[in-house]
Amino acid sequence: MEYIDGTEALLEEAKKSILYVTERPAIVMEKGKGMYLWDTDGKKYLDFIGGWAVTSLGHCPDVMIKALQEQASELINASPAFYNKPMIQFAKLLMDYSCFDRVFFSNSGSEANESAIKLARKYGEKYLNGAYEIITFVNSFHGRTLAAMSASGKSYWSKLFEPKVKGFKHVPINDMDAIIDAITPDTCAIMMEPIQGEGGVYALDQSYIEAIRKLCDEKGILLIFDEVQTGIGRTGKLFAYEHYQVEPDIMTLAKGIGGGFPLSAMLTKEKYNVFDAGDQGGTYSGQPLAMKVGYAVVSEIIEKDLCCNAQVQGEYIISRLDTIKNKYGLKAIRGQGLLIGFDLPSEKGKEIVAKCMEKGLLINSPQPATIRLMPALIVTKEEIDEMFGILIDVMEAVMG
Ligand SMILES: *Cc1c(COP(=O)(O)O)cnc(C)c1O
Repeated sequence: MEYIDGTEALLEEAKKSILYVTERPAIVMEKGKGMYLWDTDGKKYLDFIGGWAVTSLGHCPDVMIKALQEQASELINASPAFYNKPMIQFAKLLMDYSCFDRVFFSNSGSEANESAIKLARKYGEKYLNGAYEIITFVNSFHGRTLAAMSASGKSYWSKLFEPKVKGFKHVPINDMDAIIDAITPDTCAIMMEPIQGEGGVYALDQSYIEAIRKLCDEKGILLIFDEVQTGIGRTGKLFAYEHYQVEPDIMTLAKGIGGGFPLSAMLTKEKYNVFDAGDQGGTYSGQPLAMKVGYAVVSEIIEKDLCCNAQVQGEYIISRLDTIKNKYGLKAIRGQGLLIGFDLPSEKGKEIVAKCMEKGLLINSPQPATIRLMPALIVTKEEIDEMFGILIDVMEAVMG
């Protein structure tokens, strides 16, 4: 067995052995603490990607280390056929702090959405005369399994991996007539991100979400919120549905819920507790390490009131963006809490991301002319100022 060391050798092996799925920069990440990452050359990066809106407590927080170490020496895996202690503890915590009654755990956002799609179809089969269609949105992102890709409204995906899973209709956001036209007796659910994340941080209007809730009630169909990105404090409340004061029937969570440990959940009301044995499951559903870590992450967010920090720091970021808006011709600034996007005057997203990385700052460009910021919920004003120091330098060089 050969141990590979040194950045050059690592990158050479990576190019040979890792299946190509995306362009990655020529660095190898090695260490993380708080808001910072270090690569194998010891270069330090201020992280405003946050593991893709995942590392809600920052990198390697003590509470996660402790939870993993404790649970690893107690029980790593019993089997999905048994209850375990952290699973029950974590389920209760989520029920206590949400409007839901039941939870199914899995490992990724896509899987949680698969569960939501299956549950809505099951309810349709049992109680809505076999209705199976789900209305989703143009520009939405629900993940990369076949059903989640079929549900997503990414235009580039529309021709990929045909034939797609049938039964999804895509409508533009904030257009009530489009939804009313799309609904048929075959419709079992409407599925949405309350704020579209990958699409470039686009929020659905308050009155629109209220009208959809009303429509779902009238038709007896389910409202599904994909809160994989917006959930667990990201938007300044524990769940984004709280901003809208509208309760969905199903909510999916992933990303921030595990703080970096692979974990997701689908939450629903007792009325929709309709799966039969064997309809849904998974080898790692309720895996003890994941459950212990999820409990530690979510209870830390609640105890430290990090939702409030997300709100306060998010407002600070927006206020600072407002001050440079005219100078750099920013087209729009959008966001809620620490999920923030802004539009550049031209398609310079990639270039700005690359130049920031050179200078030790990690940010994301989800669309060619959009920059997205999604730092850990622990971010401080000083770290935001540090971020703006680099970002403004780079914008000056690229667009000044
Ligand atoms: C990231 C994301 C997903 C997919 O999650 P994975 O863990 O990558 O499968 C689904 N929905 C939304 C809104 C997301 O942001």
